[in-house]
Amino acid sequence: MNLSQVRKMMLFTAEKMVESEPTLTSLDQIVGDGDHGIGMKRGFAAIIVLLQDEKFQPTNIGDFFIQIGTKLMTSMGGASGAIFGTLFRAGGKSITGITEFDSSALSTLLNEGWQAVYQRGNAKPGDKTMVDALAASATTASLLTTLKLKDTLPKIAQSAMEGAEKTKQMIAVFGRTKNLGERAIGHMDPGSVSMAYILKFMNEYIQTQ
Ligand code: ADP
Ligand code: MG
Repeated sequence: MNLSQVRKMMLFTAEKMVESEPTLTSLDQIVGDGDHGIGMKRGFAAIIVLLQDEKFQPTNIGDFFIQIGTKLMTSMGGASGAIFGTLFRAGGKSITGITEFDSSALSTLLNEGWQAVYQRGNAKPGDKTMVDALAASATTASLLTTLKLKDTLPKIAQSAMEGAEKTKQMIAVFGRTKNLGERAIGHMDPGSVSMAYILKFMNEYIQTQ
Protein backbone atom coordinates (compact mmCIF):
# COMPACT_ATOMS: atom_id res chain seq x y z
CA MET A 1 0.00 0.00 0.00
CA ASN A 2 1.23 3.48 -0.76
CA LEU A 3 0.64 6.57 1.39
CA SER A 4 -2.59 7.52 -0.36
CA GLN A 5 -4.05 4.02 0.16
CA VAL A 6 -2.97 4.00 3.81
CA ARG A 7 -4.69 7.35 4.23
CA LYS A 8 -7.96 5.94 2.82
CA MET A 9 -7.66 2.85 5.04
CA MET A 10 -7.24 4.97 8.16
CA LEU A 11 -10.11 7.28 7.17
CA PHE A 12 -12.39 4.22 6.85
CA THR A 13 -11.07 2.91 10.20
CA ALA A 14 -11.67 6.27 11.90
CA GLU A 15 -15.26 6.41 10.62
CA LYS A 16 -15.93 2.89 11.92
CA MET A 17 -14.34 3.72 15.28
CA VAL A 18 -16.65 6.72 15.65
CA GLU A 19 -19.62 4.41 14.89
CA SER A 20 -18.39 1.98 17.58
CA GLU A 21 -18.83 4.53 20.36
CA PRO A 22 -21.99 2.92 21.88
CA THR A 23 -20.36 -0.53 22.12
CA LEU A 24 -17.19 0.88 23.71
CA THR A 25 -19.24 3.03 26.08
CA SER A 26 -21.26 0.00 27.25
CA LEU A 27 -18.09 -1.97 27.98
CA ASP A 28 -16.51 0.87 29.98
CA GLN A 29 -19.77 1.36 31.90
CA ILE A 30 -19.36 -2.18 33.21
CA VAL A 31 -15.67 -2.20 34.18
CA GLY A 32 -14.64 1.48 34.13
CA ASP A 33 -16.13 4.96 34.34
CA GLY A 34 -17.99 4.88 31.03
CA ASP A 35 -15.91 7.44 29.13
CA HIS A 36 -13.87 5.19 26.86
CA GLY A 37 -16.31 5.26 23.94
CA ILE A 38 -16.57 9.05 24.09
CA GLY A 39 -12.78 9.40 24.25
CA MET A 40 -12.22 7.13 21.23
CA LYS A 41 -15.01 8.89 19.34
CA ARG A 42 -13.43 12.28 20.03
CA GLY A 43 -9.99 11.05 18.95
CA PHE A 44 -11.11 9.40 15.73
CA ALA A 45 -13.45 12.26 14.84
CA ALA A 46 -10.35 14.49 15.03
CA ILE A 47 -8.54 12.00 12.76
CA ILE A 48 -11.38 12.25 10.20
CA VAL A 49 -11.04 16.05 10.15
CA LEU A 50 -7.26 15.74 9.78
CA LEU A 51 -7.44 13.21 6.93
CA GLN A 52 -10.03 15.23 5.02
CA ASP A 53 -7.86 18.35 5.19
CA GLU A 54 -5.94 18.73 1.93
CA LYS A 55 -3.31 20.72 3.77
CA PHE A 56 -2.40 17.58 5.69
CA GLN A 57 0.43 16.19 3.56
CA PRO A 58 2.70 13.87 5.57
CA THR A 59 6.05 13.18 3.93
CA ASN A 60 5.93 9.38 4.24
CA ILE A 61 3.96 6.55 5.87
CA GLY A 62 5.96 6.67 9.12
CA ASP A 63 5.34 10.40 9.40
CA PHE A 64 1.63 9.77 8.65
CA PHE A 65 1.25 7.43 11.64
CA ILE A 66 3.27 9.74 13.91
CA GLN A 67 0.84 12.54 13.15
CA ILE A 68 -2.16 10.24 13.72
CA GLY A 69 -0.71 9.42 17.14
CA THR A 70 -0.10 13.06 17.99
CA LYS A 71 -3.69 13.90 17.05
CA LEU A 72 -5.09 11.08 19.22
CA MET A 73 -2.91 12.14 22.13
CA THR A 74 -3.95 15.78 21.96
CA SER A 75 -7.66 15.24 21.28
CA MET A 76 -8.70 12.24 23.40
CA GLY A 77 -7.37 12.82 26.90
CA GLY A 78 -7.66 10.12 29.59
CA ALA A 79 -5.48 7.06 29.96
CA SER A 80 -6.33 5.83 26.50
CA GLY A 81 -5.37 9.11 24.76
CA ALA A 82 -1.82 8.66 26.02
CA ILE A 83 -1.82 4.92 25.33
CA PHE A 84 -3.22 4.91 21.78
CA GLY A 85 -1.29 8.10 20.96
CA THR A 86 1.92 6.42 22.09
CA LEU A 87 1.15 3.31 20.01
CA PHE A 88 0.85 5.27 16.76
CA ARG A 89 3.60 7.79 17.49
CA ALA A 90 6.19 5.16 18.40
CA GLY A 91 4.90 2.76 15.74
CA GLY A 92 5.15 5.50 13.09
CA LYS A 93 8.62 6.46 14.24
CA SER A 94 9.77 2.85 13.85
CA ILE A 95 8.83 2.86 10.14
CA THR A 96 9.86 6.42 9.39
CA GLY A 97 10.73 7.06 5.76
CA ILE A 98 8.89 4.09 4.27
CA THR A 99 6.78 4.60 1.15
CA GLU A 100 5.21 1.12 0.98
CA PHE A 101 3.11 -0.24 3.85
CA ASP A 102 3.37 -4.03 3.87
CA SER A 103 3.18 -6.90 6.40
CA SER A 104 6.71 -6.26 7.56
CA ALA A 105 5.97 -2.56 8.22
CA LEU A 106 2.78 -3.42 10.11
CA SER A 107 4.69 -5.93 12.22
CA THR A 108 7.34 -3.33 13.07
CA LEU A 109 4.68 -0.73 13.89
CA LEU A 110 2.77 -3.10 16.21
CA ASN A 111 5.85 -4.50 17.95
CA GLU A 112 7.62 -1.17 18.48
CA GLY A 113 4.29 0.42 19.43
CA TRP A 114 3.74 -2.33 22.00
CA GLN A 115 7.18 -1.74 23.54
CA ALA A 116 6.49 2.00 23.80
CA VAL A 117 3.08 1.41 25.38
CA TYR A 118 4.78 -0.85 27.91
CA GLN A 119 7.42 1.82 28.65
CA ARG A 120 4.65 4.33 29.15
CA GLY A 121 2.13 2.38 31.22
CA ASN A 122 3.87 -0.79 32.45
CA ALA A 123 1.01 -3.08 31.48
CA LYS A 124 2.00 -6.63 30.57
CA PRO A 125 -0.10 -9.23 28.75
CA GLY A 126 -2.52 -10.63 31.33
CA ASP A 127 -3.12 -7.30 33.10
CA LYS A 128 -6.52 -6.78 31.37
CA THR A 129 -5.68 -3.79 29.14
CA MET A 130 -5.43 -3.01 25.43
CA VAL A 131 -1.96 -4.58 25.63
CA ASP A 132 -3.65 -8.01 25.60
CA ALA A 133 -5.01 -7.32 22.11
CA LEU A 134 -1.90 -5.41 20.96
CA ALA A 135 0.59 -8.05 22.10
CA ALA A 136 -1.44 -10.86 20.50
CA SER A 137 -1.60 -8.99 17.18
CA ALA A 138 2.10 -8.03 17.28
CA THR A 139 3.15 -11.62 17.97
CA THR A 140 1.08 -12.95 15.05
CA ALA A 141 2.35 -10.15 12.78
CA SER A 142 5.96 -11.13 13.56
CA LEU A 143 5.32 -14.59 12.12
CA LEU A 144 3.81 -13.31 8.85
CA THR A 145 6.13 -10.59 7.61
CA THR A 146 6.75 -11.98 4.13
CA LEU A 147 3.13 -12.53 3.07
CA LYS A 148 0.77 -10.00 1.46
CA LEU A 149 -0.99 -7.58 3.82
CA LYS A 150 -4.35 -8.63 2.39
CA ASP A 151 -3.61 -12.19 3.52
CA THR A 152 -2.01 -11.37 6.88
CA LEU A 153 -4.33 -8.66 8.25
CA PRO A 154 -7.27 -11.09 8.73
CA LYS A 155 -5.08 -13.25 10.97
CA ILE A 156 -3.53 -10.27 12.80
CA ALA A 157 -6.98 -8.77 13.44
CA GLN A 158 -8.32 -12.14 14.59
CA SER A 159 -5.45 -12.53 17.07
CA ALA A 160 -6.23 -9.08 18.48
CA MET A 161 -9.89 -10.07 18.94
CA GLU A 162 -8.86 -13.30 20.64
CA GLY A 163 -6.59 -11.25 22.92
CA ALA A 164 -9.54 -8.99 23.76
CA GLU A 165 -11.79 -12.02 24.43
CA LYS A 166 -9.19 -13.40 26.84
CA THR A 167 -9.41 -10.25 28.98
CA LYS A 168 -12.81 -11.59 30.13
CA GLN A 169 -10.99 -14.10 32.33
CA MET A 170 -8.57 -11.54 33.80
CA ILE A 171 -8.48 -9.46 36.96
CA ALA A 172 -7.27 -5.91 36.28
CA VAL A 173 -4.04 -4.44 37.61
CA PHE A 174 -4.69 -0.84 36.51
CA GLY A 175 -7.27 1.90 36.73
CA ARG A 176 -10.80 1.65 37.98
CA THR A 177 -11.25 -1.93 36.81
CA LYS A 178 -8.73 -2.94 39.48
CA ASN A 179 -11.17 -1.90 42.19
CA LEU A 180 -13.73 -4.39 40.88
CA GLY A 181 -11.41 -7.30 41.66
CA GLU A 182 -13.03 -10.60 40.68
CA ARG A 183 -16.23 -8.84 39.67
CA ALA A 184 -14.43 -7.80 36.46
CA ILE A 185 -14.28 -11.45 35.42
CA GLY A 186 -16.66 -12.18 32.56
CA HIS A 187 -16.28 -8.68 31.07
CA MET A 188 -13.92 -7.55 28.32
CA ASP A 189 -11.54 -4.64 28.79
CA PRO A 190 -12.83 -1.76 26.61
CA GLY A 191 -9.37 -0.66 25.45
CA SER A 192 -8.59 -4.17 24.23
CA VAL A 193 -11.79 -4.12 22.18
CA SER A 194 -10.79 -0.73 20.69
CA MET A 195 -7.41 -2.17 19.74
CA ALA A 196 -9.04 -5.21 18.13
CA TYR A 197 -11.57 -3.00 16.31
CA ILE A 198 -8.84 -0.77 14.81
CA LEU A 199 -7.22 -3.81 13.20
CA LYS A 200 -10.61 -5.31 12.26
CA PHE A 201 -11.58 -2.15 10.35
CA MET A 202 -8.15 -1.83 8.69
CA ASN A 203 -8.69 -5.41 7.49
CA GLU A 204 -12.24 -4.73 6.30
CA TYR A 205 -10.92 -1.87 4.16
CA ILE A 206 -8.05 -3.84 2.66
CA GLN A 207 -10.37 -6.70 1.67
CA THR A 208 -12.33 -4.29 -0.54
CA GLN A 209 -9.16 -3.34 -2.46
P1 ADP B 1 -9.67 6.20 31.75
O1 ADP B 1 -9.09 4.96 32.38
O2 ADP B 1 -8.84 7.43 32.00
O3 ADP B 1 -11.13 6.36 32.01
P2 ADP B 1 -10.36 5.22 29.12
O4 ADP B 1 -11.64 4.74 29.72
O5 ADP B 1 -10.46 6.03 27.89
O6 ADP B 1 -9.48 5.98 30.17
O7 ADP B 1 -9.46 3.98 28.75
C1 ADP B 1 -9.40 2.86 29.54
C2 ADP B 1 -8.55 1.83 28.81
O8 ADP B 1 -7.18 2.22 28.81
C3 ADP B 1 -8.57 0.48 29.47
O9 ADP B 1 -9.67 -0.28 28.98
C4 ADP B 1 -7.23 -0.12 29.10
O10 ADP B 1 -7.31 -0.93 27.93
C5 ADP B 1 -6.37 1.08 28.79
N1 ADP B 1 -5.33 1.24 29.80
C6 ADP B 1 -5.44 1.74 31.04
N2 ADP B 1 -4.25 1.73 31.67
C7 ADP B 1 -3.36 1.20 30.81
C8 ADP B 1 -1.95 0.91 30.86
N3 ADP B 1 -1.22 1.18 31.94
N4 ADP B 1 -1.38 0.37 29.75
C9 ADP B 1 -2.11 0.11 28.65
N5 ADP B 1 -3.43 0.35 28.55
C10 ADP B 1 -4.05 0.88 29.61
MG1 MG C 1 -12.75 5.20 31.28
